[in-house]
Amino acid sequence: MNIHEYQAQNLLKEFNVPVPFGRVVFSGDDYQAILEALHFDKVCIKAQVHAGGRGAGHFKNDLGYGGVKIASSKKEALDVINSMIGNTLVTEQTGNGGKIVHKVYLAEPVQISQEYYAAILVDRDLRRPVLMLSTEGGIDIEAIADRSPEKLHKIIIEPSMGLTISQTKELADQIGLPMEQARELSDLLLQLYALFVAKDCSLIEINPLVLDKNGHFLAIDSKINFDDNALPRHPDIVKLRDVEEENPNEVEALQYNLNYIALGGNIACLVNGAGLAMATMDLIQYHGGQPANFLDIGGGANEEQITRAFRIILKNSNIRGIVVNIFGGIVKCNAVAQGIVNAAQTTSFSLPMVVRFEGTNVEEGKEVLKSSGLKITFANDLDDAANKIVNLCK
Ligand code: GDP
Ligand code: MN
Repeated sequence: MNIHEYQAQNLLKEFNVPVPFGRVVFSGDDYQAILEALHFDKVCIKAQVHAGGRGAGHFKNDLGYGGVKIASSKKEALDVINSMIGNTLVTEQTGNGGKIVHKVYLAEPVQISQEYYAAILVDRDLRRPVLMLSTEGGIDIEAIADRSPEKLHKIIIEPSMGLTISQTKELADQIGLPMEQARELSDLLLQLYALFVAKDCSLIEINPLVLDKNGHFLAIDSKINFDDNALPRHPDIVKLRDVEEENPNEVEALQYNLNYIALGGNIACLVNGAGLAMATMDLIQYHGGQPANFLDIGGGANEEQITRAFRIILKNSNIRGIVVNIFGGIVKCNAVAQGIVNAAQTTSFSLPMVVRFEGTNVEEGKEVLKSSGLKITFANDLDDAANKIVNLCK
């Protein structure tokens, strides 16, 4: 799960990581009153969308600046807020469609003397958290890693030990900080790791982490992702979810306990079990096709959920065919078949569909589909199903 910058900044503050003063403004708030209450005149206005690269982005109704703008007066700030909210921001991470800005963050501008990059994430190959720090911040980290990998320092964290003071001190030494600042950076990184562990984060990224004109460290932009599997033990984090920012089909699927993820291809998949769903997508690709979604209806899906699932996959306008791959254990093939027929009756569709049923009530399931009048190609096994749907979608 992803959250907004303003929410991430609040979490950092809670964990004593220094951040500039800031407050969020929602569409429809009294912008003027909020601005007047600020204790500073210059205001940094930052579009709040679930995407990075805002500074270098642009608005669809072009404003001559991107999603991060420093206004030199409250009067100008009011103009900026009015122009950003409701406008669509396009950045490298939003895709061409961009994202509508519904809220902005007002931050006290910082006089920056140096920008750093700091991140903690889980390295899947090492199976450990790693802390990364670069003396070149503000810009995109992939570019730094490519161009000057020696500037990207990496500390591997042993989970049983946690991040240690000796590790952070050594890092601060390596980048040549004087003692006072080395201590400040070390404390800040230890706090970041405390947050990472306490909230089951999968990523904390501070870009940039800056040294201000007075020689103090401040996190001026942060991004935090959470491990979805740990969300049940963090109700406070779950409350931060902003469904407006998420794919509406994915949000709807979640309501029915379906695990759906939209992808870029054109072959829709309806499968039970995450492993089988992955295998189905692999075989579609193996036969030259591209899956339009990942969908795991779960181990015990009922007819109602399957009807919902089918409607959700049909909402993707790119799809040219559907493959249904069910290995009936607790899930009954005839319930899946009935769910498909229900959905098909209420949503007129004429796309090719390949069905592979195996397991509980397989014959009854096939019978339901055959007598429904829907045009269906049956497949003998998983590979056959993938092959057939790819050919039908060519
Ligand atoms: P991003 O483009 O989405 O990553 O948004 P950032 O919050 O990182 O802002 C982009 C850039 O704007 C930063 O790298 C900074 O250089 C600059 N910036 C952001 N906030 C401030 C600020 O308070 N003061 C100054 N001087 N620059 C800022
Ligand atoms: Mn940034």
